[in-house]
Amino acid sequence: MSNEQQYTKSNVTTTGDSNRADPTPPSVLELGDVSKSYRSETAVDGISLSVRDGELLTLLGPSGCGKTTTLRLIAGLERPTAGTVRVDDETVADERQFLAPENRDIGLVFQNFALFPHLTVAENIAFGLTDASEDQRHERIADLLDLVSLAGYADRTPDQLSGGQKQRVALARSLAPEPAVLLLDEPFSNLDIRLRTEMREEVRRILKKAGVTAISVTHDQEEALSMSDRVAVMHDGCIEQIGRPEVVFEHPESRFVAEFLGQAGFVSGRFEDGTIETGIGRLTGSMLNGLSDEYDGARLDVLVRPDDLKAVPTEGIGDGTIINRQYTGPSFVYEVELDTGEIVHCQHNHATEFSLDNRVNVDLTADHTLAWYPAE
Ligand code: ADP
Ligand code: MG
Repeated sequence: MSNEQQYTKSNVTTTGDSNRADPTPPSVLELGDVSKSYRSETAVDGISLSVRDGELLTLLGPSGCGKTTTLRLIAGLERPTAGTVRVDDETVADERQFLAPENRDIGLVFQNFALFPHLTVAENIAFGLTDASEDQRHERIADLLDLVSLAGYADRTPDQLSGGQKQRVALARSLAPEPAVLLLDEPFSNLDIRLRTEMREEVRRILKKAGVTAISVTHDQEEALSMSDRVAVMHDGCIEQIGRPEVVFEHPESRFVAEFLGQAGFVSGRFEDGTIETGIGRLTGSMLNGLSDEYDGARLDVLVRPDDLKAVPTEGIGDGTIINRQYTGPSFVYEVELDTGEIVHCQHNHATEFSLDNRVNVDLTADHTLAWYPAE
């Protein structure tokens, strides 16, 4: 967790989020060592995190790692076994106090959108606006419809909307009471694949325009990396790493994070005299992120992803043999079995076609330092 600053690169361009301009926006949500156990099962195991004003944080991890339970603890649908939850500088849960969900300034977007089928779009949105006057309510509904690009749909009922439009209405309804924090649990799981990509950009746009602090949950690494300001990778009820998407992707702090975030391959070797001899050739210590002399003599596993490597067919000895290839449309991914027995993947443009059983050299083409782990 402490490493995220250290990796900040000057050449990484940040997107135009206004919140990034302020170096220390106040934190709106804080979890302090929060745990939740059910009898023998520990669903959440000592999570601490702080979400800044206007930030979009995604909890990413495999099924069963505790994402939904974490959201339910924040919302007040579960009471923590230990730890503290604070919203807007107010303690909403600790060992003594427990504020009910309706008394927390928190909005929830459900997986199935949960719209009232017999109410119109406007009436659905108005549901969250109990204490405003008629005029104010009208104006606010119009603003929210505008925000979610549904002006003109006020009088439709949910069955007259597409999946994406339903999600926009659900979002508008949750944003209506202007919650301090909005929680979204697997918000795209009910949309087809094409719509998912479109809606994650759209949801990000809407959340940023509304300026709301949001926590989203997903098991889809591409979704998490593409839409979040920061990603928290969860494993067995714990946060393994939290940081900006490009930092977590390029500098995974554990093998679990590396493997969960993309097609991870490892080449191993002993670090000696400033270099390490591997199945893809000799790597210098300076190519390995943060490697110091204290590891001299140690055996290391170096992370190489498909976009870090190129296969080059050779008539000579080579590093290995192409044993499989996967066509994804824009690219070919070649699976290479190195002569060391290790398996790595090389990503090539779709126009680059090699045949199976070709002998190849594997060249490292990464323009960043590589992550590594002491060999197990
Ligand atoms: P995720 O959302 O990441 O898939 P969950 O938070 O739903 O994971 O669940 C985390 C773990 O806690 C799982 O092993 C699950 O079986 C367990 N769990 C969740 N809710 C309960 C419950 N009400 N009673 C018992 N075990 C639960
Ligand atoms: Mg879940």
